[in-house]
Amino acid sequence: MEIINNPQELQTLSLMLRAEGKKVALVPTMGFFHEGHLSLMDAARRQADVVIVSLFVNPTQFGPNEDLDAYPHNLERDAKLAEEHGVDILFTPTRDDMYYEDHSTWVEVPDLAANLCGKSRPVHFRGVATVVTKLFMTAQPHVAVFGEKDWQQLAIIKRMVRDLNIPVDVQGHPIVREESGLALSSRNVYLTEDEKKKAPMIQQGLRQMRDAVDKGKNNAAELKEELAAFYSREIPGSRVDYIEIVHPGSIENLDIIEGPALCAVAVHVGKARLIDNLLIKV
Ligand code: AMP
Repeated sequence: MEIINNPQELQTLSLMLRAEGKKVALVPTMGFFHEGHLSLMDAARRQADVVIVSLFVNPTQFGPNEDLDAYPHNLERDAKLAEEHGVDILFTPTRDDMYYEDHSTWVEVPDLAANLCGKSRPVHFRGVATVVTKLFMTAQPHVAVFGEKDWQQLAIIKRMVRDLNIPVDVQGHPIVREESGLALSSRNVYLTEDEKKKAPMIQQGLRQMRDAVDKGKNNAAELKEELAAFYSREIPGSRVDYIEIVHPGSIENLDIIEGPALCAVAVHVGKARLIDNLLIKV
């Protein structure tokens, strides 16, 4: 595995590999790998000749009071795991490698960023869309793999690629969970042992909502209220950022569940803000 931190070098190499007829896949990450990241790398490995993983904690997607400086990292461990999973190139640029001091170009998908995480993290998706565009230009992938854990992010990137005619096949990959049901996240390290025992209730509640919908309940306001009550009962001390039921493509709120519906939640548990989602109707 090669480690590259210069964007120009990666771009030149990738263009050369493409010219040789190689299929290139990219997995963008912020590092501190867990099985979720590794499953995206495996999915990329299965279909490409060259797998590039980017590891970059992107400052422009963090708000002023968020955990940019506290974000967990362990490059040595990450490099070992990536190599074990057959990654060919680990791209590890510094902030200065990625952004000029007077960077002033932004990519925004406001319609899809208005709801859910975009509400409480106003600059987040602008930062994500911009850095992913830069990563696409730099790594020149045919395919890029993203996790469905960040469902809204995936929807935004798919729309961005469509709207801007970016020639990348954007693929979603199912959420990888611990046996307990807790969605894997680099931020789970912020949880205490006790919080870790309670956090699986986040998914438990989503599943209960899906069961209720299966039984014919279709009033979103009632379903959301029930879930909020479940969380305050089962995860004492937690604070709900949002519980929403949205159309999985447009990310617009639904009042009545008739067709495809996604329930997405963000819950503060201790120091961690955990997100999760479940398709409650397909
Ligand atoms: P991050 O490093 O948190 O920015 O995540 C990098 C990629 O891994 C994103 O596409 C995430 O959606 C994906 N990802 C993170 N956690 C999981 C998970 N538990 N299951 C599947 N994909 C995940």
